[in-house]
Amino acid sequence: TTEIHPGIKRGAFSQLTDADVSAFEAIVGGDHVIKDADEVLSYNIDWLRICRGQGQLVLRPKTTEEVSAIVRHCNKRRLAVVPQGGNTGLVGGSVPLFDEIVISTSRMNSLLSIDPVSGVLVAEAGCVLEQLDREAASQGLMMPLDLGAKGSCQIGGNLATNAGGLRLLRYGSLRGTTLGLEAVLPTGQVLDCLTTLRKDNTGYDIKQLLIGSEGTLGIITKAAILCPARPKSVQLAFLGLDSFQAVLDTYRLARRSLGEILSAFEFIDSESMRAVKQNLGLSCPLGEHSFYVLAETSGSNETHDREKLDGFIESVMSMDGCATDGTVAQDAGQFAHLWSLRERIVESLLVDGYEYKYDVSLPLADIYRLVEHMRTRLDGRVIRTAGYGHLGDGNLHLNFTTPKFDAKVLELIEPHVFDWVRDRRGSVSAEHGLGLKKSQYIRHSKADFAVRVMAEVKRLLDPNGIMNPYKVLPDE
Ligand code: FAD
Repeated sequence: TTEIHPGIKRGAFSQLTDADVSAFEAIVGGDHVIKDADEVLSYNIDWLRICRGQGQLVLRPKTTEEVSAIVRHCNKRRLAVVPQGGNTGLVGGSVPLFDEIVISTSRMNSLLSIDPVSGVLVAEAGCVLEQLDREAASQGLMMPLDLGAKGSCQIGGNLATNAGGLRLLRYGSLRGTTLGLEAVLPTGQVLDCLTTLRKDNTGYDIKQLLIGSEGTLGIITKAAILCPARPKSVQLAFLGLDSFQAVLDTYRLARRSLGEILSAFEFIDSESMRAVKQNLGLSCPLGEHSFYVLAETSGSNETHDREKLDGFIESVMSMDGCATDGTVAQDAGQFAHLWSLRERIVESLLVDGYEYKYDVSLPLADIYRLVEHMRTRLDGRVIRTAGYGHLGDGNLHLNFTTPKFDAKVLELIEPHVFDWVRDRRGSVSAEHGLGLKKSQYIRHSKADFAVRVMAEVKRLLDPNGIMNPYKVLPDE
């Protein structure tokens, strides 16, 4: 971790005492206070294995009241805490930096209700996304978000990071699909905004502050999510293309000819495809291409949807300079396999050793220019420069790998990559958040005054600064 921000110093927080541990044991019960160093270790290390904190204690509350009592104690004693869900975050936000106490939401995993008519699902923060989606399916509904980490990430973590994912293009962001939310604020106060109404214009929408706050303004404990109807027919086309312009042209055509049934449009470059093939042994049904595209449709009438998709593929294949090769998933197995080529890229890159991971938004025309520019800049110094992402959202995942951490490589990447994005009015974090790793670059994408307002809000809600310190806001 110190490689990321060597300058950051521990805040003026108290040190944990035996009396604190006893107080926590009285709140959650001894079994749910983890002190054993080996057990605590996994809560200290992030998914990318880049950030490692020195936390000594993990608390696993079961109810909002327990979270509130813990936080109230921590605030009174000025003990710093870090909320943790599935620990799949990619910017170092979910693990301690120094000795912050980890508050894990994993035991808060009850589904509270699903209304099949309105489509509103109410769940505790620790519910795993994939499990919620399964529950939603039993009522003919689906979760409005889907991402590669769905088997481990929790809805509270999704909300805290405002996770985007594979189908934002169709269902929009959690800022729109979250109807209500309950959270424990840094003073221990419970903020009950858990309404299930679609319309509620009664002044400021406080829950929006919690969405995307990455655990710095409070601990989300419950949420009400609006779930769309589960599509009766889902189709997936997988295309091979030989230029990025062809990817853009194909996207334009997909929007025009698939219209309302288009539910995802993802692109993968040849280097990312090579990583899943070489490092995970996955097979690609198409030959070698510079780019691959997954275009998914979700609708209610299979014949109609298939006709539309076939028409799209025909046009794309016949258009000069567009897709040169393609296939359509014929069954659930092929569908899952094609999606795994995209969803498992993150995991495949880790096999190279050390991963430098960037997640940026750019105007579509600039998206792949950044990958080419960086590939030239880092030529000979990295194993690979790989670009893929949610094209429909203008979101590029840009990755570099080396066998182990190389400070020279990092110096060539940062701040250069952020400057490049800023100069094109892009965002230095499209969907992963700022966490620890990107917080110092917030001003590249946010006006100075906006950052000052953020700091004021933080001070108002968290006067002692105990809630996930060192994250999101820059150290100054
Ligand atoms: P954690 O990692 O535990 O925490 C993330 C942040 O939220 C931390 O700052 C933490 O303090 C805070 N937090 C967690 N729970 C709470 C809570 N209850 N209240 C307040 N704060 C909380 N992201 C995308 O947006 N789109 C993708 O497509 C995508 N794909 C991914 C694929 C893989 C394989 C992986 C590993 C990650 C991916 N991510 C993606 C990153 C994404 O941020 C997380 O997967 C997910 O949203 C985090 O949920 P989590 O429960 O694991 O949260």
